[in-house]
Amino acid sequence: MSDEARILMAQHAKTSELLGVDFLPLGTAPEGLVNAPVEQLVEQSAHQSAPRARQPAKQAPVRPDQPSFAAREPEGQRAGRSVVPSDVAPISAEEIREAYESFETKQARLDGLCTKYELDAPHQHFNMPFNSIVFGEGDPDASLMFIGDAPGEDEDLSGRPFVGRAGQLLENMIKAMGQSRESVYICNVLKTCAPGHATPTADVTAICVPYLFEQIRVVSPKVIVTLGLCASQLLLGETKPMRSMRGHWHPLRADLTESGIPDVQIMPTYHPGYLLRSYTEDNRRKVWSDLTQVIEKLKG
Ligand code: URA
Repeated sequence: MSDEARILMAQHAKTSELLGVDFLPLGTAPEGLVNAPVEQLVEQSAHQSAPRARQPAKQAPVRPDQPSFAAREPEGQRAGRSVVPSDVAPISAEEIREAYESFETKQARLDGLCTKYELDAPHQHFNMPFNSIVFGEGDPDASLMFIGDAPGEDEDLSGRPFVGRAGQLLENMIKAMGQSRESVYICNVLKTCAPGHATPTADVTAICVPYLFEQIRVVSPKVIVTLGLCASQLLLGETKPMRSMRGHWHPLRADLTESGIPDVQIMPTYHPGYLLRSYTEDNRRKVWSDLTQVIEKLKG
């Protein structure tokens, strides 16, 4: 079976699993697939179907000025044939250098922003107790960005976004999309936990949003998935409920694009925390349908 077919099977299997189907009729499945654990296939699909155009950024530690593979003769050339498939355009050294610089520069800008936030964070204004600043993580050059509302207890303790139960569900969703935590960028509207883990209030949010907007400007993704009401209403400039915002594409709020934030397509979907509380087949089907649209958009 071709790799492509295996990846497709893995994605179908994951879709079914997300929709609550925990078995597949294997009677006619080709040999080799029956015994392959879904996780392994999904893992493989995450590696193989990550967006190709951005690959150099994810391999940033390979500096263009280090001729690390120049000395080694590629296998195919030794055998007198090219290992580069004819339909793949070769990446020039200049393109690799640009991708590397973009990765490094963006990461440095995000780090600088995080340091600035540390000085200005809401805890300075509202005396909010917290353990960590949960600024965001992932590929600073990602085409896909996920934005939640605020770090919870697990995130506050670890300093990383979406690592608790909701985070594990989000990670499964990301894998089912053929991506990985490392290939996307994940953050929240608030960078420190809200007092009592309550819904972020307007005055706390007001202090955090300039940092979120700058984060979007730096990463400059092609697509943002807003998770839940807080991030969705904020970025769309809407007051509508989730059920009428989710499931279709929205532009970024006009005042943000006018202020120079690159245009980005937004897909609001239910927050994984809500999904865990209301784990119905209908909700899972809706979320997966939203994510499928994102997969398609990223291909274009
Ligand atoms: N919920 C969020 O919105 N963000 C997190 O990081 C964790 C839970």
